[in-house]
Amino acid sequence: MAPRSVLVTGANRGIGLGLVKTLLKNEKIEIIFAGCRNPDEAEELKAIKDGRLHLVKLDATCDQSIEAAYKEVDEVVGEKGLNLLINNAGINVKYSFEEPPKRQDIVRQFDTNVFGIIVISQTFLPLLRRAAKAYGGDDVNVDRSAIVNISSGAGSIGSKERGPKDNSMLIYRMSKAALNQFSKTLSIDDFANDHILVASICPGWVQTDMGGDSALLTLEESLRDLVPTILRLQKEHNGGYLDRTLKTIPF
Ligand code: NDP
Repeated sequence: MAPRSVLVTGANRGIGLGLVKTLLKNEKIEIIFAGCRNPDEAEELKAIKDGRLHLVKLDATCDQSIEAAYKEVDEVVGEKGLNLLINNAGINVKYSFEEPPKRQDIVRQFDTNVFGIIVISQTFLPLLRRAAKAYGGDDVNVDRSAIVNISSGAGSIGSKERGPKDNSMLIYRMSKAALNQFSKTLSIDDFANDHILVASICPGWVQTDMGGDSALLTLEESLRDLVPTILRLQKEHNGGYLDRTLKTIPF
């Protein structure tokens, strides 16, 4: 099985683009929306010739753009709704505690990685609910209806692996910890009755613009685990904070 329809945010480069390309290899997926800030400039996405792929303008920090994206997606998916929302768009704003405070940087970090994901998830909720209802029964799984938040092990408060010791990832870490709380809380309180699964997943340290050239994993190595893991999510993973091989990460 596979979800009928998927929306990936931040899909013009990096992990988001890799997710779209890999998901397109799954013939059971009928519709893939690639969300990006500037579809006209998304050359790699535009080069993909596949009728299942829809480019959608979506800026995680702009409510109007999120609303407009919702309408576009609604028109395509119709009464079957949207099965899977992958909140992948993210930024890593380096921060130094030794310099004067930079409130704008903190706000920008949280606006994209946390507030944007809340607004996107809330806006698309009617489509996720519609998909869950159309599926019927009591199953909770990614084929039915799910939000997968691309998080990071760097957001773990409990993990012993702390990474860089200079605290340059301070506000990035905080944003991902907040994102994990968002996933966990929704999975318990709000979405459980609707049979919508929510989980946070870390792709590993990946060679992208964000991850840099010295990252441990190539994009292909990450996606080799990440995509099957996403497509395997079911009830037992609801509210989980997982790595790309489905292992639990301590919150
Ligand atoms: P990249 O920097 O390579 O790509 C980031 C993507 O997010 C781009 O498509 C970018 O679009 C998009 N984006 C940024 N801001 C916005 C916005 N406001 N609205 C819409 N899209 C936006 O990062 P990665 O591919 O490496 O990261 C993807 C996700 O994976 C992130 O959430 C990141 O935190 C997470 N992650 C990455 C790791 C890594 O090692 N690479 C490790 C752990 C987690 P644009 O081109 O317009 O800027």
